[in-house]
Amino acid sequence: MTARPWHADAWTRLQARRERDALPHALLLAGPAGLGKRDFLAAFVNGLLCQHPAAGVACGTCRGCQLLAAGTHPDLITLSFGLRKDGVTRSEIVVDQIRDLSQRLSMASQFGGWQVVTIDPADAMNAAAANALLKTLEEPTPSTLLALVADEPARLPATIRSRCQRIDFLVPSREAALDWLRAEGVQDAPAALEAAGGNPGMARAWAAGGALKQRGEVRHDLKALAAGRGDAMEVVKRWQAADPSRYLWFAAQAATDELRARASGKAAPLDSQLDDEALDGWYGKANRARDALRGPLRADLILIELLAAWR
Ligand SMILES: [Zn+2]
Repeated sequence: MTARPWHADAWTRLQARRERDALPHALLLAGPAGLGKRDFLAAFVNGLLCQHPAAGVACGTCRGCQLLAAGTHPDLITLSFGLRKDGVTRSEIVVDQIRDLSQRLSMASQFGGWQVVTIDPADAMNAAAANALLKTLEEPTPSTLLALVADEPARLPATIRSRCQRIDFLVPSREAALDWLRAEGVQDAPAALEAAGGNPGMARAWAAGGALKQRGEVRHDLKALAAGRGDAMEVVKRWQAADPSRYLWFAAQAATDELRARASGKAAPLDSQLDDEALDGWYGKANRARDALRGPLRADLILIELLAAWR
């Protein structure tokens, strides 16, 4: 993994605070998946718990680093989705996990240094868990750092957000992203980056996962349906079978590209029958459908409704 140039500023600022002994009690690392929030956090936490760090970077060889590498450092608590009694992984972080956490934090750090808690994905805490965490945030323990990671920070209560020092991860410039993708050995980096809306981490994953082919497939499907050809049920089945949320991402992107082509007087690639306003509405609908996939509705019903509005 090559260092991500778009992390440099946030890294420098955070290290400067550490050197001044002015680290906040709680951090919120916020921004879309694919920008390296988790790698950033891991590097920072490793530096905090390392016994011989150099300018905040872990040495990789001390006892602390060995325990971190083995995932058994006693002063690092990682909170994520737990298991239900029947062994199934939960889809939210629940209040019992936060209560256990407060109990553990009431004990001193074992190595006499920092105690670090990561909560990831923090935006998956349910309301009771978030409430319980608020108490922990309001009564911080010295030498304890809570780090929350959220792809969708807006889903966190404002009361939680306001008590954290926020580090925003933004989509970097096209040049920085392309440089990084090329250093990572990604083939056809510009096409992958365009498909991923400028998000380099997503572009890397998608270039490896055949997403570019999927992007072409979506455009082909939408064009056929707009022309009254193609079988919507067959499309639904295909989109549903493999990563429907990515199909919907590409569908929304296709709608934007269609609008952009019209606005610049070029031939619109999909020949959509919808007027500009309806097309813009359909773009929103595709994005909402992507969110809805996380909810209780059946994916095929969500897709059928969306495609019905296309024609
Ligand atoms: Zn070390």
